[in-house]
Amino acid sequence: MTELEPKASQRNDRRALVDLYRECNQIGNITFCLYNSVHIFQRLYSMTSINNNDFLTLTRENEWSLSPFDVEHDKCKIQVWDTGVMYIEPNQADNSKSFIFSSAVHGNETAPIEICDELITDVLNGKLTPKHPVLFIFGNPASINIEKRFVEENMNRLFSGAHSKGTDPQGRATNKERQRAEKLEQYVTRFFDLYPQSHKTHYDLHTAIRDSAHEKFAVYPYLHGNPWQKQQFEILRAMGVTTFLLMQKPATTFSYYSSNTHGAEAFTVELGKVRPFGQNDQSKFKAAKETLQALLLGTEFDGQKFESSNYQLLSVYREINKHYEDFKLHFADDLANFTQFNKGDVIASENGDDILVEQDGEAIVFPNANVEIGQRALLMVTPTDINHNLV
Ligand SMILES: [Zn+2]
Repeated sequence: MTELEPKASQRNDRRALVDLYRECNQIGNITFCLYNSVHIFQRLYSMTSINNNDFLTLTRENEWSLSPFDVEHDKCKIQVWDTGVMYIEPNQADNSKSFIFSSAVHGNETAPIEICDELITDVLNGKLTPKHPVLFIFGNPASINIEKRFVEENMNRLFSGAHSKGTDPQGRATNKERQRAEKLEQYVTRFFDLYPQSHKTHYDLHTAIRDSAHEKFAVYPYLHGNPWQKQQFEILRAMGVTTFLLMQKPATTFSYYSSNTHGAEAFTVELGKVRPFGQNDQSKFKAAKETLQALLLGTEFDGQKFESSNYQLLSVYREINKHYEDFKLHFADDLANFTQFNKGDVIASENGDDILVEQDGEAIVFPNANVEIGQRALLMVTPTDINHNLV
């Protein structure tokens, strides 16, 4: 019920204004009256609109929390649930589908933030009127401000309850990113619970640290034996994504959380390479933005157009974890994701042992030697076929 609080305080402010005028008439003190009414108007105004319709700036000004409030709008019900969390339900909503578009789970991945910022501003300005309900999430505003992937802990390892298990790299049971991940889970739950019968979709938008042999790719979370969806492959192909990494085990990512806990079709979508604000080549992200916009406008994508030859479908052949502090990768720091190796190549080493490539064609994804001990340092992937379990 917290979203009702601003309405109540708005009512209080309006009442205060009436009382104030009454009092001013009685005492005849114009200066006192003006001073106080400006103050109250300011508060009233801030409850119901966002300066310049710039939700991203408001989000960045409130790094970890923001009191909920309603935004006045002609065509949609719009509520800010917290910093970076905006719920939009069109007045004439078609609730057969519901969407979550998240970005900034990693704060320095700016292109997806820009895409979502533009979509939100278009809705606030009345240029874009969605047909379906949508929840926008800027995941980690404090990390946007410091232009880093995260402040204290990688938030995309903190979902599905991981925020409340074990300790962070500093040995603490909680930190602000853990608290934020827990809250984001609650907002996702609140949103999907509003539309229990809807076809639920969540795109968690990212850009990757390193170059990629396939510039755009998506991680399809582990489905526990449920079939892969042709229509989703087609939607993502419209965004320019034709490379898919099909996971075979549970994860603590945001997309796995929505997929596993809420039955959403959810993906981690990697749209290109990390660059600072203002340095993204907008032409490379046009297809993604237009596809997200088309989905909100109700465009149907035809899953029957699916042909596996249009895609590079890869599954995880094995995961290589870091067990010792001296863990070392045996390839260049800037080697692209999806670069292939040959059987027998030394891929990494630690504690005096070499880690070898086991079969021809194994390719690297997400290598990072700087993870904590016990965490995944890289994935080795190989081509796979999914025709046996596809709808
Ligand atoms: Zn990321």
